[in-house]
Amino acid sequence: EETSEAHDPITFAETGSQNDLLWDISLRARIDQAMDVGEIYCVYQPKICLASKNLAGVEALVRWHDPARGFISPVHFIQQCEKAGRMEHLTRYVLHTACSAGKLLHFRGSKITMSVNISATLLGDMRIVGIIQHALQSTGFDPEYLVLEITETSRISDYAVAASILDEIKLVGVKVSMDDFGIGSASYEAFYELPFDEIKIDRLFVSNMAKDPKARAIVSSVAAMGREARINVVAEGLENPNDIDMLELIGCQQVQGFAFSRPISLTNLLELNSSDQTRGAANMV
Ligand code: C2E
Ligand code: MG
Ligand code: MG
Ligand code: MG
Repeated sequence: EETSEAHDPITFAETGSQNDLLWDISLRARIDQAMDVGEIYCVYQPKICLASKNLAGVEALVRWHDPARGFISPVHFIQQCEKAGRMEHLTRYVLHTACSAGKLLHFRGSKITMSVNISATLLGDMRIVGIIQHALQSTGFDPEYLVLEITETSRISDYAVAASILDEIKLVGVKVSMDDFGIGSASYEAFYELPFDEIKIDRLFVSNMAKDPKARAIVSSVAAMGREARINVVAEGLENPNDIDMLELIGCQQVQGFAFSRPISLTNLLELNSSDQTRGAANMV
């Protein structure tokens, strides 16, 4: 049984040889099989509502546990997946897994949102809309509770095309979120051009805001922008529990980070829900 600690990004086996071309080629060749045998799976990190301190939702994060080498960093294997032309396939798998998990959580009485990361490179054509609809239909998960976090928005080549695809996705009832706001190029342009329902302020600013006035200014200005644009703002990567008050003062709606919880297995997530019936769906603190 996995522990939450096992999924700490810093425990990923990042040996020098993992950067070998041969290793990367073997990863690319093994992606499909790894999904079939369950070496690739999802963990779920809680998103907490700052006002109530209740669980608002979870984000599905993909993991690859190689029996021989241990955990492979998702940033690394997603890059290899992209190179192998298997991004669409991985996304289909993650969407299906996450929507099934979301359906089970709802069935158990926990009406929380399920966020799934979608690479911006998939916003080049309408196929992604069918993939999302298929995941919803085959699992029976309520579209209103699905949130798609668009990562790497700096790689969007045509905003008009991406905007029309996101509009289609929103017609299905699904929410769209801009991941890692503030890092990469053209964050404001992407936010301006695309119909996002939510912004996630990158961990770079959130983790440094207590000690660095510049980082704090960025977090509070993005929160203010979210309020004025009537967009949900989530702070990512909050590690220090002492910083929670500051975030509340700044006025973010939601927070995600090790201060509340690391990514956990579905089993642990279900236990967390049933073990805390007295305080509502799933009170995290
Ligand atoms: P992300 O979507 O911004 O996800 C947040 C990342 O920050 C996760 O790393 C999470 O474990 C980590 N994190 C959360 N709270 C804290 C904290 O308090 N401190 C620190 N140091 N880290 C924290 P992870 O799981 O390694 O994922 C890295 C990135 O890989 C994700 O960043 C996302 O861009 C991508 N990714 C993960 N799963 C998927 C997926 O299914 N599809 C796609 N396309 N990308 C994915
Ligand atoms: Mg994300
Ligand atoms: Mg992020
Ligand atoms: Mg990030």
